[in-house]
Amino acid sequence: MKYKHLFGPVSSRRLGISLGVDLVPYKYCPLNCVYCEIQNTTHLVTARQEFFPPREILDELDSFLFPQPHLDYITFSGAGEPTLNSSIKEIIRYIKDKYPQYKLALLTNGTLLNNDDILQEIIPCDVILPSLDAASSEVYQRVNRPHPDLKVEDLIAGLVRLRQVYSGEIWLEVFIIQGITDTEQELALLRDAISQISPDLVQVNSLDRPGAEEWVEAADPKRLIEIRNYLRERLPMPVEIIAKIKYQTGMKSLDADLVDLIRDTIKRRPSTAEDLAAMLNIHINEISKVLRELNNEGKLYAERKPRGVFFKWIA
Ligand code: SF4
Repeated sequence: MKYKHLFGPVSSRRLGISLGVDLVPYKYCPLNCVYCEIQNTTHLVTARQEFFPPREILDELDSFLFPQPHLDYITFSGAGEPTLNSSIKEIIRYIKDKYPQYKLALLTNGTLLNNDDILQEIIPCDVILPSLDAASSEVYQRVNRPHPDLKVEDLIAGLVRLRQVYSGEIWLEVFIIQGITDTEQELALLRDAISQISPDLVQVNSLDRPGAEEWVEAADPKRLIEIRNYLRERLPMPVEIIAKIKYQTGMKSLDADLVDLIRDTIKRRPSTAEDLAAMLNIHINEISKVLRELNNEGKLYAERKPRGVFFKWIA
């Protein structure tokens, strides 16, 4: 079966061997983050939609899961915000009822969690990984460029509410843009917000490959360590850095064929991640993951052009 909504399984440090489930069309998102590795949001929306007949997604899951593959997680993620899909409740229920042996993870920007109905829908997930990059309105606007209806106070309130109603694991991701999200004032506000949200784990991240805006740069590793230490000393939960994580030994082989494909393609012609996804018929998140790793290993040269970021092989 050819999959339109499933991708991977990909090897992920955070989630092990993870089957991706993409519930929304490309770049439907309530945010337009300056660091987004899948570039600018083309549909900045907060209204939920079904987008696809749920049966289409369930049939793909049935086909993939029938041989009972080994997976650490089935993960709702993709090139947009999964909670925008109004059928997420039905899909989560289906997986939990029919495939209880698999753990479910949700990657979300958290913007819709201020709605109690949506919160209730995602409660069966085993782990929820929301993001919080800013705690002041000014930095939220500058970094996350939200839909005009969204406010950072509502985002924080939604995450606090999530903790109150959800007993599963919450791993909060904080993306650092040096000089903007890590000022003394912003870090103090972030610390206060995280303290209220009370996640089980805080994961500090930074850019691994070109984001939506050229001016966004990877944070200095020393600065990331300082930020991690700052948060560690002031918060009761574990805080770790997840930026520039290499593939774990034993998982790399999962992506070896894809690495070869990407290398051969961009050796012939520099391409954007979106071009590679279309040419190779592989989900943008899988392509992004490999590009991120190759970029970290210094094997790629990225050049920003009007049509996007083009990757060239230099190894
Ligand atoms: S990083 Fe995530 S939340 Fe931000 S624009 Fe990209 S897809 Fe949306």
